[in-house]
Amino acid sequence: MKMPWQSALINAVTHPEELIELLELDKKHLDGAKKAHELFPLKVPRGFLKKIKKGDINDPILRQILPISAEDIITKGYTKDPLQEKAINPNPGLLHKYHGRVLLTLTPSCSINCRYCFRRHFPYSENNPGKQGLAKNLQYIAADESIKEVILSGGDPLLMNDEKLHELITELEKIPHITRLRIHSRMPIVLPERITDDLVNILQRTDLKTILVTHSNHPNEIDTTVVNSLSPLIAAGVTLLNQAVLLKGVNNDVKTLAQLSEKLFTAGILPYYLHLLDKVQGAAHFDTERDIAKELHFELKKLLPGFLVPRLVVEKPGAPAKTDANLEDFYTG
Ligand SMILES: *Cc1c(COP(=O)(O)O)cnc(C)c1O
Ligand code: SF4
Repeated sequence: MKMPWQSALINAVTHPEELIELLELDKKHLDGAKKAHELFPLKVPRGFLKKIKKGDINDPILRQILPISAEDIITKGYTKDPLQEKAINPNPGLLHKYHGRVLLTLTPSCSINCRYCFRRHFPYSENNPGKQGLAKNLQYIAADESIKEVILSGGDPLLMNDEKLHELITELEKIPHITRLRIHSRMPIVLPERITDDLVNILQRTDLKTILVTHSNHPNEIDTTVVNSLSPLIAAGVTLLNQAVLLKGVNNDVKTLAQLSEKLFTAGILPYYLHLLDKVQGAAHFDTERDIAKELHFELKKLLPGFLVPRLVVEKPGAPAKTDANLEDFYTG
């Protein structure tokens, strides 16, 4: 039997025509939407659509999901693999980039397709570890005692069902040097039904210290359903953090960013990272200039307690950590 979240996933909106109709948008946007949809398909769960204001082409959530003609523009300096992840891919499905932690890319897809996604051109089909690959990746982790933390990523790792997730966690628990489990997922925000009782139980029972990193970019994304779905996880001892991407036309003003932090905290989530956009081809229209971003971040610090200020970071291929945008000269990588 399918879980409600799996049904919601199957019922996601995947046709530009339907999206435009449901949100009562001007039909003139359809052509651009269809074209961009061919580059990277539209996908959005219906529940998430409720947070979008009808008829408003500038809605900050709509901008994150609606394919538009600007995605067709080739911009210098924007590439298909901005993180050069192919180079740090020892085995398919495993990224070992930073000291002490590895990232497993477990599923090829997400519950939503974000237009600015740095993985919009990622060769997922070549990078699908499969069952054997996963076993090999677990051996890799077991063989390196410097690895303390395993990050489940994707795509979206919570697309795995609870049973599979439980199996994987059981395997990780057998490796003595692994003490932390981190899950990077946008599903708690865009499809809160995903936080099932079983998931809560699995995360409560494990001896691993567990962190869930959500991905929310705008305060409108966090409503009472999201807050209520997350509260059992907090009770289960899961640490909640959020990463956001600085996106032009979505959250690149200090008031919105401050509201996002405040709203996250009401849901028990601490802001962790505010990422500068990865320079991926087709998303240049979301980018904010480095100096403007730094200034925004400085203004944000004036409005919020330190624990509500996310770190402004940029991903640099070869760097030993996410690079703090304010300390960029310090890192050479
Ligand atoms: C972002 C990222 C991490 C996690 O970095 P933290 O600073 O620990 O949050 C780990 N591995 C890869 C490959 C990453 O891109
Ligand atoms: S949830 Fe993350 S990985 Fe998935 S499409 Fe959005 S930005 Fe990309």
